[in-house]
Amino acid sequence: MISALEAMNIILDSATENQSEIVPLFEAHERFLADDIYSHDDIPPFKNSSMDGFAIRSGDTVGASSTRVLELKIQGEVAAGNIAQTPLVPMHAIRVLTGAPLPTGADSVVPFENVEERDGAIRLFASVAAGQSTREKGEDIRKGDRVLEHGTRVKAAHLGVLASIGCTRVKVFRKPTMAILTTGNELLSVSESLSDGKIRNSNTYSLRALASEYGCEPVDFGVARDDPNELLRNVREGLKYDLLVTSGGVSVGKYDYVLESMKKAGVDIKFWKVNIKPGMPLAFGVYSKGSTNALVFCLPGNPVSSVVTFLEFVRPCVARMMARSNDGEDVQLKAKLEQSLSKRDGKRHYHRGILRSNEGKLTVRSTGNQSSGVLSSLVKANCLIILNEDKSTFEEGEEVDVELLPWGRIE
Ligand code: AMP
Ligand code: MG
Repeated sequence: MISALEAMNIILDSATENQSEIVPLFEAHERFLADDIYSHDDIPPFKNSSMDGFAIRSGDTVGASSTRVLELKIQGEVAAGNIAQTPLVPMHAIRVLTGAPLPTGADSVVPFENVEERDGAIRLFASVAAGQSTREKGEDIRKGDRVLEHGTRVKAAHLGVLASIGCTRVKVFRKPTMAILTTGNELLSVSESLSDGKIRNSNTYSLRALASEYGCEPVDFGVARDDPNELLRNVREGLKYDLLVTSGGVSVGKYDYVLESMKKAGVDIKFWKVNIKPGMPLAFGVYSKGSTNALVFCLPGNPVSSVVTFLEFVRPCVARMMARSNDGEDVQLKAKLEQSLSKRDGKRHYHRGILRSNEGKLTVRSTGNQSSGVLSSLVKANCLIILNEDKSTFEEGEEVDVELLPWGRIE
């Protein structure tokens, strides 16, 4: 059986950057940049006032003090969006509003609240330093600067920057399409009443949500029965997408036909079974479509296993497909165990945990029952505690790796 790390390497070796497309600026929200973004302009494009006040020549104010009050005549006004009609005359001031370009000749702004205005003049009680209350041309962004990096997920802040440099259209990675196929004779749709031996299909919902959260376009294939022909039909259809993610039917049970169907459909299974818990029966394969591939993940059906294996293996693959760099949703942290934990199977465990901060120090405890069917443990948990393969006992107070769950908030 291969290790989680080996599995990860195989997956990442098979994942390549997705194609890109150009979208109007606002549609880039939550998408991933497919190019580095450079500015063609200086931002701000001109030296301007950072306050409502008076543009002056700092040299005129040398020596001004409460005992040597200086008077400057008001020469005119510039609001934001306008420019001064005439250069600033020595020993004069021009009223400027925040964002107004500094009139030629002026080098500083003295805020309204620092002067007294009377009879068409202002009175100053102190000298003003050069450059005070002004913003330099290019102070924010210089022409030619690389302002955003390829792989960045476009959030509110990035949209603002893109707008300020005049990007009307943005090159982003095409959303990987992800067919989601759940399997099992026992599965009912959410609207059906429970009947003997049946349970509701919950995986489709968790997996679809994860797919969207990580920037994919989920395509719901619903539930296939544990029937080789029905599965094969669905698998063939699912392989038309960038990714095919199945849940269930991948163990060694009598009715576990998923792998068999994958192989029949021509999928090259790169691995089956990983030394992890939950999620051991995970399989991964590649289906060649000539110039492109479909990547196939067969996740185990247990609700916790399917979510954990998605987070641990599908998510990094999707991230690679969009060169993802910044959305910070796979935050790795260190925390001290509040209790001892042990395991005997030599597997890597993703133990549902509750992470909290005590006076800035992170500590973590178990949510309790770790059975992979206990979906509610994922709701209680805010993190996964990583218990490595090579150790069996983890003492109270020992430092462990934890991964914040996408919906987790540190207590
Ligand atoms: P399997 O991997 O098919 O052997 O399924 C393992 C366990 O997960 C079984 O108890 C299934 O009933 C359950 N299960 C499988 N698929 C789903 C699903 N889509 N929603 C909820 N539970 C599921
Ligand atoms: Mg099943």
